[in-house]
Amino acid sequence: MIIDRIPTSGFVDGKKELMIFRLFFCYSNIFKLFLSFTHEVVSLRRILSNFIKESIMETIIELSNVSKIYKMGDVDVPALQHVDIVIKRGDFVALMGPSGSGKSTGMNMIGSLDIPTEGVISLAGQNIAHLGESALAVLRGKKIGFIFQGFNLITNLTALDNVMLPMIFQGVSKYDREERARNLLKKVGLEKRADHYPSQLSGGEMQRVAIARALANDPGVILADEPTGNLDSKRGEEIMHLLQELNNQGKTIIMVTHDQLLAEKHAKTIYHLKDGEVINVQQTSRRKKK
Ligand code: ADP
Ligand code: MG
Repeated sequence: MIIDRIPTSGFVDGKKELMIFRLFFCYSNIFKLFLSFTHEVVSLRRILSNFIKESIMETIIELSNVSKIYKMGDVDVPALQHVDIVIKRGDFVALMGPSGSGKSTGMNMIGSLDIPTEGVISLAGQNIAHLGESALAVLRGKKIGFIFQGFNLITNLTALDNVMLPMIFQGVSKYDREERARNLLKKVGLEKRADHYPSQLSGGEMQRVAIARALANDPGVILADEPTGNLDSKRGEEIMHLLQELNNQGKTIIMVTHDQLLAEKHAKTIYHLKDGEVINVQQTSRRKKK
């Protein structure tokens, strides 16, 4: 009897250990479940907040069913055909495609440098497809900064004067123009080159002056047609870094490039063009990371 009522301590301890082990196992599973649940909730929240952010992000440029046909004598050259492009504030868009696919024509439409043969182009909600040249010029001067493959600096003006130039057309006083131009040159790391002429600068430096000039009137949108096309890869990467920094500060960037790797690294959206048509719209990992 006594022996029956007093089980061996090893048996009791074994049962307890088993219980404790089971409890531990059970709680750790509940804990794991809880962790994976919170992880799911966090990812769901991130997806939802990105979705809300994307949907309330303002559309600043929209091309709807845009075609551009150049007339060469009797021959029609269709450079763009029924193109739809939507650009949201803060986006970094790359236009890619083989030579002759309509990238520059598309860029000219987006930047209101030219008008389409057909379709609607809205800039900040305003249809600009039928505006006259002088109205377009005023709009461009305020809202868009341009960067070109060949830099397009004025050769007989210093870096400082090149950056000051676009502000003249917006009626900024000389004192303010100079102060702002010096600040912009500082921003692109060229404050010591202010008095240099383009011929005294390297390609990378000229492109940085061109970026400072594009920022002169503090536009919300920067258009860059092959901005690294004339630069070696190191200088090209520096220019892309500057553009990405501007994008991080809220500027909308639209860039033409041949370089898929460059586009995937820096852009958020890539429009692939072929024979004047958009054949694919790609969202890059830079957007998904956000
Ligand atoms: P990409 O920049 O992709 O090389 P473009 O937009 O410059 O292509 O050109 C698209 C097509 O339109 C090409 O076939 C080109 O020859 C033609 N094109 C472009 N500009 C003009 C123009 N001003 N006059 C006539 N044809 C043009
Ligand atoms: Mg081109």
